[in-house]
Amino acid sequence: MSNVPVAVVTGSNKGIGFAIVRALCKQFPGDVYLTARDPGRGQEAVAKLQEEGLRALFHQLDIDDLQSIRALRDFLKEKYGGLNVLVNNAGIAFKVHDTTPFAVQAEVTLKTNFFGTRNVCTELLPLLKPYGRVVNVSSMVSSSALGNCSRELQQKFRSDAITEDELVELMTKFVEDTKKSVHEKEGWPNTAYGVSKIGVTVLSRIQARMLNEKRKGDHILLNACCPGWVRTDMAGPHATKSPDEGAETPVYLALLPSDADGPQGQFVSNKTVRTW
Ligand code: NAP
Repeated sequence: MSNVPVAVVTGSNKGIGFAIVRALCKQFPGDVYLTARDPGRGQEAVAKLQEEGLRALFHQLDIDDLQSIRALRDFLKEKYGGLNVLVNNAGIAFKVHDTTPFAVQAEVTLKTNFFGTRNVCTELLPLLKPYGRVVNVSSMVSSSALGNCSRELQQKFRSDAITEDELVELMTKFVEDTKKSVHEKEGWPNTAYGVSKIGVTVLSRIQARMLNEKRKGDHILLNACCPGWVRTDMAGPHATKSPDEGAETPVYLALLPSDADGPQGQFVSNKTVRTW
């Protein structure tokens, strides 16, 4: 078994995830895994970094596929005896003018952004070594979507006592409500991406609370963040930040020094803790 520290970035064959791997290759003292659902696209990305003189390793990971997540978990357990850094970056967004019915958009978006990310956490967080760092890439859209929820939903999502099961129930209810076309009446905003990222931010708050309760002495730090508005296939060419600039906050959180006792369970953008 290797004692080398290990970092994993989900959805890192392109966009912000790729830039996060690039930065970690330069700054993380250990093995960095670029992961992708498609091995061809993943290997191509690794080769691109190699041309830049950077060494990333590859492992397949489709966060929609529990078997794929578990295969990565078993690999990490066997080869490294755990995990030091996890960046949950993989995500999807329908384009604004996409005509796919809203209920379908809601189901598909929540499946990857919330349920897929949660499944990765369920399988990989138990592997975290002391001083581990976890970064869940959310979005500022989670904050604006929260502001457009009913008072009752806002209270639930801001609660310091909400459980993971309750959050899963709420995310499931959103999808069901869109199918019945009652989501607005039930207090939801009209954005599937926004609700999925509310889920990611609230999940991060819950998970950090659980780490504080169950693994207090292990100094693990877990946060959600927004990378900013970044020029990728998701956000398009008019966004303000380059992918490398978008990677800055996630990388800052992934590399918080071992003597840091925060941020913990926060929503961070531009390296600054934001009020949730
Ligand atoms: P992107 O260029 O579209 O890249 C998304 C990455 O996620 C791709 O590598 C994609 O792989 C991967 N992915 C999607 N579904 C996956 C799955 N089921 N399993 C594994 N990988 C999967 O988007 P981006 O802009 O870099 O976004 C990265 C993250 O930042 C997302 O979580 C996004 O919501 C968030 N974000 C972006 C912005 C922005 O302005 N760009 C702003 C706020 C937050 P494929 O190539 O196989 O599709």
